[in-house]
Amino acid sequence: MSIDWENLFLNGLDFSFITEIALRTLIMFLFVLVLLRSSGKKGVRQLSIFEVAIIIALGSAAGDPMMNKDFAILPSLIVFAVILGFYRLLTYVASKSEKFEMVLEGEPMYIIEDGQFTLQEEGADTFAKDEFFAEMRVMSIEHVGQVKTAVLETNGQVSFFFYEDKDVRPGLPVLPKPYQKKSQEIHEAGDYACTHCGKVLHLSAAQYCPRCKKTEWVRAIDTPRIT
Ligand SMILES: [Zn+2]
Repeated sequence: MSIDWENLFLNGLDFSFITEIALRTLIMFLFVLVLLRSSGKKGVRQLSIFEVAIIIALGSAAGDPMMNKDFAILPSLIVFAVILGFYRLLTYVASKSEKFEMVLEGEPMYIIEDGQFTLQEEGADTFAKDEFFAEMRVMSIEHVGQVKTAVLETNGQVSFFFYEDKDVRPGLPVLPKPYQKKSQEIHEAGDYACTHCGKVLHLSAAQYCPRCKKTEWVRAIDTPRIT
């Protein structure tokens, strides 16, 4: 296969258009900035699905007139105005109706209750445990037994509520090295945590987890939280 590199990179680019591209990009960038500032959002560390949809629509409308001679800027501005108006309208309705807000943004979800993972009946496979373990490590959490409650917020962040040190119980370790020692076999009696649901049992032989019916265990640890 021969690739026409000149066509790939230039496609008959008119070099006199380069300054216009720069100018178009500058203008569109300023408009995007003004629009995002006027959306009322303070920052974008975490976006809800609804806001990601807005950003994608915005990016597409802003990108075309930046580099394409045939696209005028005004239609993009109309698109911007419609998106902003729509965003404002939906967030206004959401602020008035809890039900609508739930449809738009989703619902916060309990992930840990009483030091164990909640058993999700539906949508459980959309929630990635390794990502969640990473969230816990970022919060200096060594094992699930330190956490009383964890809630996955609609913007993707996780809120943690901790046990006091004296109430910390043995729990499923979330650090990679101890977690990797998970096994279906029990060679030595002790406290073991179910790798699926976090249930801790004193085991001396392999068995099913009575809570979630899985069979993979890892040695539970009960270190207090270092803050
Ligand atoms: Zn289990």
